[in-house]
Amino acid sequence: MNDNGSAARVEKARDVMPEIFDLIGEHDHEQVVFFYEPSCGYRGIIAIHDTSLGPALGGTRFWNYASDSEAVVDVLRLARGMTYKAAVAGLNLGGGKSVIVGDNKTTHREMVMRAHGRAVESLGGRYITAEDVGTSVEDMDYIHMETGHVVGMAGKSGDPSPVTAYGTYRGIKACALKRYGTDSLEDRSVVIQGAGHVGYFLAQDLREEGAKVFIADIDESKVDRCVEELGCESVGADEVYDVDADVFAPCALGAVLNDDTIPRLKVEIVAGAANNQLKRQHHAKMLQDREILYAPDYVINAGGLINVYSELAGWSLERSKRKAGEIYRTLLHIFEIAEDAGLTNAEAADEVAIRRVGQVAKLHRTYV
Ligand code: NAD
Repeated sequence: MNDNGSAARVEKARDVMPEIFDLIGEHDHEQVVFFYEPSCGYRGIIAIHDTSLGPALGGTRFWNYASDSEAVVDVLRLARGMTYKAAVAGLNLGGGKSVIVGDNKTTHREMVMRAHGRAVESLGGRYITAEDVGTSVEDMDYIHMETGHVVGMAGKSGDPSPVTAYGTYRGIKACALKRYGTDSLEDRSVVIQGAGHVGYFLAQDLREEGAKVFIADIDESKVDRCVEELGCESVGADEVYDVDADVFAPCALGAVLNDDTIPRLKVEIVAGAANNQLKRQHHAKMLQDREILYAPDYVINAGGLINVYSELAGWSLERSKRKAGEIYRTLLHIFEIAEDAGLTNAEAADEVAIRRVGQVAKLHRTYV
């Protein structure tokens, strides 16, 4: 390439990623690594946020980002979220995440995943990967051909949804205790948005305790299954925010708590498994102002992470469920901190995470 071409590329790079070190420094990420494998078009980024508690664990997202800088911002945000989730759940894990930039329908799947496996392997165990949006259990098998630092493969910890649902169910009970002075859900009403993997098992847990469950999904067949098998009541996907119930449990999409939906809610508790439920941070305050008790999403849905962690810790399903059951106590602790410090529950959860990471990081190292 001539000098002009190269200068133009440098200019373009400045446009794409103007302040990469500032971005990394903003939330104290430890390391961000970029990988490129031309033979199969693999373009990967691994971000490690914090390893004070243990190796950074977080899934691989395979997504066609509009730009490289969008991918960087996303991987940094997701990696930090994993630090908080693991810390609050009381696991010996740090936070990390990876993204593969490109079309996740690629026909070079094996090569792309193997290239990613080599990238993971190059970090020597500082980062452990798992499934995420755009990747599957089969992809983890390809990654495993190149590295042992991967969890969530076929025949291992299995579908995390029942454990996620159980943790969410226990979290809803904690919310009920806080709100009503009793954690019994018998005759309480819960509206679940999303009758997918988690939504179905959550409905099952709630029905077993005698709660009335309204369920909504854009896929009618999933709703029908919950009505027929579990005795749930069907609600239209558009009416889900208007149902007069005790609890709203988002178990489908992110950003469902926003300026449009919060004023419509007729519930006293929002507690569900979906990731990133708040469209913006200030929506936590908006819920608080409406006196709706909000269970921070990454706290109540940690059962999925607890389930894959069990692969590393050699736990059984029973032990994973017991650990997910601790979400009950964790939430009550967070509500207490929020009340004492005048914070929203979302802010208090971050506080608990940061505190645990800080305290463990301060422990003296001992040599044997
Ligand atoms: P899933 O894909 O099995 O289920 C999601 C369901 O939501 C689908 O049935 C889909 O049709 C439905 N849906 C989509 N848009 C909708 C809408 N507008 N209204 C109503 N329903 C709609 O996913 P899942 O594994 O059950 O996960 C649900 C949520 O929980 C996701 O946000 C996920 O990130 C989060 N989560 C899941 C786990 C887990 O263990 N599976 C762990 C932690 C967090």
